[in-house]
Amino acid sequence: MQAVEGHHFLIMKRKKESIFKVGYVIGLLIISVVAFAWYSHILKDELRELVRNTLKEVSNQNVLVVQKEIEGDLASLDEIAERISAMGETDEEEILDVLRRIEERYSFKRMGFCRTDGILHTTVDDIADVSEREYFQAAMRGENHVSDPLIDLMDGEEIIVFSAPIRSDGEVIGVLCAPYRVDSLKEVLAVSSFEGEGYTYIVERDGDKIVDSTHPTSFQDMTNIFTSMTEADERNNQAVEDLKLILDDGETGYVIFYNKVDKYMYTTPLGIKDWFLIDVVPVDFMENTSNYIIHRTYLMCGILAVVGAVIAFLIMNEERRKKQRIQNLLYVDELTGGNTLARFKMEVESRIQQHDKKIAIIKMDLDDFKLVNELFGYKEGDKVLCFVSRTLKESCRDGEFMGRSNADRFYILLLYEEEKEVRQRILKIAENIQRLRLSETLEYLLHPVFGIYYVEAGDNSIEDMLDCASLAHNMAKQAKNGLYKVYTNEIKEKELQKKQLSDQIEHAYRNHEFVVYYQPKYDSVTQKLAGAEALVRWRREDGQMVSPGLFVPLAEESGFVCKLDEYVFREVCRAQKQWMDRGLGIVPVSVNLSRRHLDNPEFIDEYKAILDESGVPIEYIQLEITESAMFEKKDEFVQIMERLHDLGFMILMDDFGTGYSSLMMLKSIPIDVMKLDKSFVDDYDDERGERIIRCVMRMAQDLSIAITAEGVETEAQYKFLTSVGCDTIQGYYFARPMPGEEYELHMQA
Ligand code: C2E
Ligand code: CA
Ligand code: CA
Repeated sequence: MQAVEGHHFLIMKRKKESIFKVGYVIGLLIISVVAFAWYSHILKDELRELVRNTLKEVSNQNVLVVQKEIEGDLASLDEIAERISAMGETDEEEILDVLRRIEERYSFKRMGFCRTDGILHTTVDDIADVSEREYFQAAMRGENHVSDPLIDLMDGEEIIVFSAPIRSDGEVIGVLCAPYRVDSLKEVLAVSSFEGEGYTYIVERDGDKIVDSTHPTSFQDMTNIFTSMTEADERNNQAVEDLKLILDDGETGYVIFYNKVDKYMYTTPLGIKDWFLIDVVPVDFMENTSNYIIHRTYLMCGILAVVGAVIAFLIMNEERRKKQRIQNLLYVDELTGGNTLARFKMEVESRIQQHDKKIAIIKMDLDDFKLVNELFGYKEGDKVLCFVSRTLKESCRDGEFMGRSNADRFYILLLYEEEKEVRQRILKIAENIQRLRLSETLEYLLHPVFGIYYVEAGDNSIEDMLDCASLAHNMAKQAKNGLYKVYTNEIKEKELQKKQLSDQIEHAYRNHEFVVYYQPKYDSVTQKLAGAEALVRWRREDGQMVSPGLFVPLAEESGFVCKLDEYVFREVCRAQKQWMDRGLGIVPVSVNLSRRHLDNPEFIDEYKAILDESGVPIEYIQLEITESAMFEKKDEFVQIMERLHDLGFMILMDDFGTGYSSLMMLKSIPIDVMKLDKSFVDDYDDERGERIIRCVMRMAQDLSIAITAEGVETEAQYKFLTSVGCDTIQGYYFARPMPGEEYELHMQA
């Protein structure tokens, strides 16, 4: 089970991001809403203006119609009055006759005429006293006049009365009157405007009705428009106030009032008396077009918003996926699908912060993974890694997890109460890993090796914890057939010493503390000196010797070993030359070449230059390189060996049998001598060991490679090796490594 908890870091990061994103979206939303509100506000204003203009136009037209009707009638009356004036002194009947004859041509209800006494004679033979009427008095003053609405005394109908003076010699001698039915005006105005939705009133400045409307939605029985508005709905108070102001000013203007629905009321002064034309039309009708535009706009904005949202969503989604991909790259191991080391460390960090359980950090690798690749191929190797990853994952319980750093290097975090649980679980994991059958025919067991570090209270550097597990792991690897090692303080001590030693090497080098020893090699048959191997020694100032087994690996780690090797090479050349010049019978001396030389092949030219400068013939200097170096950088290895060989150096393959040389490889490398490792020599007396030695010997002979046996300590070993055909013998049986002055004595003069 892979732990899901402890993703604090990731989650917190994501939380921050999403808060940021939500803020961003809300910000955008607010901006869009404000922009949209602003835009629709402007749009509404524009459309209102448009509505007002339409209203104005319609109203102006109505005004013209009314003006034409009333002023036309007034002008006709005036004309008739002039004709009557022109008749001179006539009696009433004569005048009435004339009027009766022409009456039909006009839209008057009837006509009448009175003399200065105000007694009205009508064309329908009525007589009435109108001397008190304003229209009479105004005409008497010489004006053409239109009266306010009056009730027809004869039939109760609503009328307005036109009046015009009749003159004789410039004197007003009578008045011509003609009532006009208000209903006629109504009919004129009822000509449908706004598709029958609109209607028109004429009112006086004080709101009193002149002409109301027959329109079904108009105010019925209106006497005063203000009163009707107030009665219709109390919400109209403001509209009434506004309308009053407009009428008082005698301007055009509009209000919106409520009578079942919202309505526009557009007023225009008629230019007749203090009359105003009021056009009424429902707001909805007027705003239908504008609403249509606005709705379309809303729809467009809506569509744009949706499209924008979809695009934003897609972009964000893509971003998220990109991030996910990057995170996967960082945190998901491509090969096994498990955690990467980076992810492992992150998980450890968050786990450490929970103090509920004790934690063990474990490093694991396979002791022989390289061999798996060599034997079964890389594809199979990858399968093994996936299997191991899966096995580790499956062994993880709640809150535990694993990760892979590279190659076969795995890390596990286990939780425990007692240390022995961890050991038991490791045994179980090893068992599970060893279940893998790599080949049907070949019995092959994987060898997992573990280094355990029990995290202590106060530990907080993850790197340090991993280092501790690594140290324990190294120790486990060094111990032959070790399964695991627990990190202890002694390991730490040793590590510290190593570190100190490594720090001291360079100083020792400058201080000339390194000297070259020589170990002679003997011809197995003649037992004569056949060569020597140069071995470096560290002699401290106080005379104490440090074993190369201790410091060479350290120098290899730091890379300093190359300098050391070159020093030995130079020393050997110098010594050989000196012995040569002194006439001693020198034999070839082999110099060790660290695997680190594979990193920079320039050393070849330097070595050649040193050799040439010394004047020693090249056959007296040989080069030893360890077999296991070949597996790290195969191609470089082969190239370097070829170049050295082409230059004329003899190549000795050191420690043969400790690495895993594919025997076929030997064909492609120009090896002159194979140095059989001491472990082979030690095993000569068991049957299997013997068989292997014989087999190797035969193969070497086939390839024309000479054999030197290393670490020969006993006569029995010597005899056996000689019997199977070893060419040269190196070992304590004949001689130990010794200083140059001592080695000198072994050479023949
Ligand atoms: P190596 O190259 O395999 O050297 C042979 C080692 O076997 C030497 O150990 C030698 O003293 C030891 N030896 C020889 N005969 C016997 C024997 O009969 N019995 C036993 N038990 N040991 C025997 P030494 O000198 O301690 O060197 C250890 C290793 O350090 C060398 O192994 C080599 O890998 C490395 N080394 C020594 N000098 C140099 C050097 O100048 N350069 C490099 N790169 N490595 C060096
Ligand atoms: Ca050697
Ligand atoms: Ca060796």
